[in-house]
Amino acid sequence: MQCRCENVRHNSSTHKIIHFTRIDNDKVAFFIHTMLTEYPKVVVFDLDYTLWPFWCDTHVYMPIKPLNKHEAIDRSGTKLSLFPDVGSIVKELHQNGVTLVAASRTATPRVAQELLSIFHVDDQPIIKYFSSLQWGQGSKIHHIRRAAKQLNLEAELEEGEFILFDDEGRNRDVEKINCKFEYLINERLDREDFERGIRAWASWKKEL
Ligand SMILES: [Mg+2]
Repeated sequence: MQCRCENVRHNSSTHKIIHFTRIDNDKVAFFIHTMLTEYPKVVVFDLDYTLWPFWCDTHVYMPIKPLNKHEAIDRSGTKLSLFPDVGSIVKELHQNGVTLVAASRTATPRVAQELLSIFHVDDQPIIKYFSSLQWGQGSKIHHIRRAAKQLNLEAELEEGEFILFDDEGRNRDVEKINCKFEYLINERLDREDFERGIRAWASWKKEL
């Protein structure tokens, strides 16, 4: 069996990687995947139905206990965890120097913070990967403006270096302040939607 890989320039934000595998003398299998090569300076994540499959304020009953580094259990016996692709996405962004922000309207930030302290990515609680946690009701324009100010990244916001991943379409209003919006129509962050969002951001930024 022989294998070879070929890198093909796809556009400014991705490389297309084609893997060929020779199965026998006349059959060759191949598959294609893309790798991101360009990221925004700041990625903002909603929490409920973006990083995890529940609402902190109506589905989770305190106290919460960690079962291990990836799971918790609440008073009602419900097991809680991140969506499966979240860890690798957070790790990839961290390794590429991207600043992470959380922006949530939950009425119970204390529950959300506790969960962010229980769920780990590698050996660190995921909360340590976030440079800013923003809470409160109202438009996420306010969350993002506060984070940009806190992190001294207001110029980067102006320049289109922010993206918000969120399962609620109403939060598209953040594009009024030059934050790209990626609507998670399936109510979850997964690898496919993440990469689509980053590629969409790269094209959108060129048009600003
Ligand atoms: Mg949500």
